Amino acid sequence: MHSSKDNNTFESIIEDVSNQKLKFNSKTIHGGQQPDKGYGAVMPPIYQTSTYAQTTPGGHMGYAYSRSANPTRTALERSLASIENGNYGLAFGSGLAAIDAVIKLLKPGDEVISTNDVYGGSYRLFKQIFEKFGINFHFIGMQNVDKIEEYVTANTRLLWVESPTNPMMNIIDIKAVSLIAKKHQILLAVDNTFATPYLQTPLDLGADIVMHSATKYLGGHSDVILGALVVKNKELADQLYFIQNASGAVCGPMDSFLVLRGIKTLHVRMQRHCENGKAIAEYLVKHPKIEKVYWPGFENHPNHRIAKSQMNDFGGMISFVPQGSSKEDAIRIIEKLRVFTLAESLGGVESLAGHPASMTHASIPKAEREKSGVVDALIRLSVGIEDAYDLIADLDQAIG
Ligand SMILES: *Cc1c(COP(=O)(O)O)cnc(C)c1O
Repeated sequence: MHSSKDNNTFESIIEDVSNQKLKFNSKTIHGGQQPDKGYGAVMPPIYQTSTYAQTTPGGHMGYAYSRSANPTRTALERSLASIENGNYGLAFGSGLAAIDAVIKLLKPGDEVISTNDVYGGSYRLFKQIFEKFGINFHFIGMQNVDKIEEYVTANTRLLWVESPTNPMMNIIDIKAVSLIAKKHQILLAVDNTFATPYLQTPLDLGADIVMHSATKYLGGHSDVILGALVVKNKELADQLYFIQNASGAVCGPMDSFLVLRGIKTLHVRMQRHCENGKAIAEYLVKHPKIEKVYWPGFENHPNHRIAKSQMNDFGGMISFVPQGSSKEDAIRIIEKLRVFTLAESLGGVESLAGHPASMTHASIPKAEREKSGVVDALIRLSVGIEDAYDLIADLDQAIG
């Protein structure tokens, strides 16, 4: 299949994105965007088409087949590149499809070092799919940066980082990890789903690849599944684009549109997520019936200093362990919540509560899970943008 991106878009993406020296709060709305060429539509049309008319073989307007490229997806990919301070964005059918594309850069015998309290689905993809193809994964607590080098071998090709981590809210020093990656010529990929570029831009901290589950904060309305990668380097972008097109895990135009629309309010939503997150973390930590609260904004959080230096604020993700510390204690609270909805996922406008041990992290063996602190009593909150008063009142009645 002829690739339209090879023809025109990569160079023009760089130009558009780099020409716009906008602040973040403007880039969410305008970054990489232009009015539609057809009728000047301010929002890109949803180009619900698989193919494009050609005047002569190869004679088309930059688009030949929608797996290779689709104008609505291109509009999203430009926006993604802009908000993450990269040059190239690639959008996929899900966050895991985006991670899958990154691992396909590797070959049998290659090794990956990943943080240990990684998203459960990433762990499952690494262990149960890619180990079969001869790629080896090491899981270590990367908040202890010095430990990483102990695991580097001649075959190490990729470092996989999440910060803040899910669900323990550990903070990994991205800049320090990037120095190790550069020293050994290893790629550094950062899953920026929890932080979003409102809070941190890993490419500016030395990462090679930023990955998103745009299903979460970027989409922001719990109505779409989509994944993204952003890079600066053209060669890496070409390799990932080859995989995107060759493996074909792309997102559709409607989903691209929804995430593009979500990104336009990312900065206002994130501001409120952070304000509400702070209010709730401070409420929980003072509550006599709460044993532990994990939130990087606390001054006594073990990685607070790094969080403060690499993030603009602390976000709306909080985990906690209630008094009693049993699974039943956690379930009792979760089932009583009324404003918080018990559900998988995070990052939407509505507040959600989850039980990692039986939900997001069920695919990680119990012993492995507990090593990183994901005990059966742990509750994870995705604090939404409702009125903080109602959220605290809801927690108050549920905790009792
Ligand atoms: C949800 C999530 C993913 C996976 O994304 P999907 O869009 O569900 O495929 C990866 N990483 C993190 C941190 C997530 O929260």
